[in-house]
Amino acid sequence: MQAAFPGSIPAADYLDTVRSSLGAVGFDPETTLPLVSICRDELTTNFFARVQEQWGPAFTLAGLGGVPALGATGWGAAFAHIPYTSGRGSLLVFGLPHIGIEDDGTVGMTVREGQDSPTSTCGALTAIYDMSQRGTIPNEVDLDDFEATKLALRLVVDGHKPDSLVDLTVAALDATEVDLWAAIDAQEIWKDHNVAVCCGVQIHGHGGKDWVWPRSISLTDATGERRQIDAFTPTA
Ligand SMILES: [Zn+2]
Repeated sequence: MQAAFPGSIPAADYLDTVRSSLGAVGFDPETTLPLVSICRDELTTNFFARVQEQWGPAFTLAGLGGVPALGATGWGAAFAHIPYTSGRGSLLVFGLPHIGIEDDGTVGMTVREGQDSPTSTCGALTAIYDMSQRGTIPNEVDLDDFEATKLALRLVVDGHKPDSLVDLTVAALDATEVDLWAAIDAQEIWKDHNVAVCCGVQIHGHGGKDWVWPRSISLTDATGERRQIDAFTPTA
């Protein structure tokens, strides 16, 4: 894990650090709407539950792979739900694609509860990775498989093959971060609300141990100017 995602920390520590770092700059659960962009996989639900324990009920942004899949109508709903009766409310957005790493170091696999052989994590990103290697990325969105085909077209451009599942997972993170900010900036949410976007990769170890590779926490001021909080620099 540390070779592929150096600086990863337990998910609970990650969320505690986000909570305290954002609390220090005025993010209060009473006036914050959390939006969460993580994969549908049941392995991600502990993370979602912890976000809700710390910040209150959360709006789901993503489908397979963790990249936002809600479309313009969904974004309109999410942004309409930010608290405002106490003045400037806050929008806290998490964007974290995920990957499994088993105890023996196997990347992209998880032995799940009640099973004795591993399955792919993330299943959707693994399927897209396999398609990219075989050259079978679809040419258009399939309405009967729209999340996976749309994601494949988004992540594998011009037949460019990712070198590894880790690279494809980071590409999913890049796409997630771009899409989160595109939606926020298009609606200029920062004019009326504080905005924080936390991006990284969620890593599932054996037996339900969750970790996070924390890549960035970005804030905007009321003009939309972004700055990063350096919350995860390891102390020596
Ligand atoms: Zn997944």
